[in-house]
Amino acid sequence: MEKIVWDVFRELPGIVEEHKLFCEQGDLIKRPTRKQVADLSESSPPEKGRSLENVVRDTEEILSFRFSTGNPRFFSFLGDALTTAFNNYAGSFESGAGISAIEDSIIRWVAERFGMPLSAGGQFVSGASIACLTALTVARDQLVEEDMRTKAVAYLSEETHFCVAKTLRVTGLLERQIRTVPCNAKFQMDPDHLRSAIVQDIKDGLKPYVVVATSKEYKMWIHVNAAYGGSVAFCESHRALLQGMGRADSIAWDPHKWLFQTLGCSVVMSRERSHPTKSFAVGAHFLRDLEEDETKNPFNYGIELFRPARHMRLWFSLQVLGTDTVDRMISRGFELAGLAESELRELADWEIVSPNTLAVLDFRFNPKGMIADDVDRINGLVSKELAAQNIGVVFTTCIHGAVCLRICTINPQTTDNDIRDVIKALDQNARLISKRFPKTETGFEDRLVSLDAQ
Ligand SMILES: *Cc1c(COP(=O)(O)O)cnc(C)c1O
Repeated sequence: MEKIVWDVFRELPGIVEEHKLFCEQGDLIKRPTRKQVADLSESSPPEKGRSLENVVRDTEEILSFRFSTGNPRFFSFLGDALTTAFNNYAGSFESGAGISAIEDSIIRWVAERFGMPLSAGGQFVSGASIACLTALTVARDQLVEEDMRTKAVAYLSEETHFCVAKTLRVTGLLERQIRTVPCNAKFQMDPDHLRSAIVQDIKDGLKPYVVVATSKEYKMWIHVNAAYGGSVAFCESHRALLQGMGRADSIAWDPHKWLFQTLGCSVVMSRERSHPTKSFAVGAHFLRDLEEDETKNPFNYGIELFRPARHMRLWFSLQVLGTDTVDRMISRGFELAGLAESELRELADWEIVSPNTLAVLDFRFNPKGMIADDVDRINGLVSKELAAQNIGVVFTTCIHGAVCLRICTINPQTTDNDIRDVIKALDQNARLISKRFPKTETGFEDRLVSLDAQ
């Protein structure tokens, strides 16, 4: 048996090659047929074990149905595979002294880069959703007395990621305890709206306790959901964009996005490293007169008890690449989005809806004289067509009620020509597709507050 396991490992490079996991020529999107989906979803575990070879073959097929994310030239997957092979337990210091020390060192480094004080602490979790859940539980337990829980109020901007409202619900908030604050034209939470909402809630005898990013008045908890943007802290030329973030009480950040890590690598930070124990340290264990090391056990600071060493892949990547290279890889993302933006600005009939701030660009094909619904449809079809032609996966999003295209250019292996080719293909397809839609006499009524116009 052991020999077969080794043989499979030895064949891995071939398997990776065959399935174009490194994504140069493979399909950008590979979907199973209906029959394949039915077969897979109706299957049950076999009573008698099957041969390893056959199971490996099936695994390859199952994994091959995917949206290609095209990142794994980076070293996260190696660190991840090594860590998995050792199956280290990262819940307590005793059981994994080496990995625990490394987790501490990375958390300290992240806190410093985020501009948090020396008192800060945190841990790795599976994703920003769990990071937010952890932080918002801590916020509740630090600021809201138990008998005030039904009066607690949280404030989010209308652009806040849906995972935040979802996690607030998990912490016990009802819909009526969550306020959505409108944004200005730059998609930032409007502080005047926020202030008047808070004042009104205090008048009504409620307990405002958390705002997801922005002001520090009213002794509230500031949670910053930096799931995506937090990586800019590791890029010298752009880190000023995050100015002030270190004043947060808690921060969620996803290395599995713009720090090029395999999925399941996220961080939750809190300003006072002891704060999470009020929510997560479990009585008997914690109240006993424990050695200092034991009170520091990660399971007292978060939701999980058995937890894998999710940080080792990041450690591995940072060791191999060095922080200088990581810095350049992040700034390349800004460069590529800037290039895409300037290419689009040169083309007629395209508008930039949200310019390149964090290597994300929202834009749309919007020729004069077309019905708004048709413009939405055209942009949707362009997105589908580009994927069907295997040129690029450019998803759509909806901003102020209008369908836009969005690109996120954080893969540093993308070339300038890749960007030019995708923009050219978008333009050609948009023009072809729009011929199928009539123009109106009355002209097009712009439903967008276009940032271009300001
Ligand atoms: C990705 C993302 C999330 C969700 O994070 P997961 O890691 O998928 O749980 C939340 N907020 C923002 C801003 C994100 O970019």
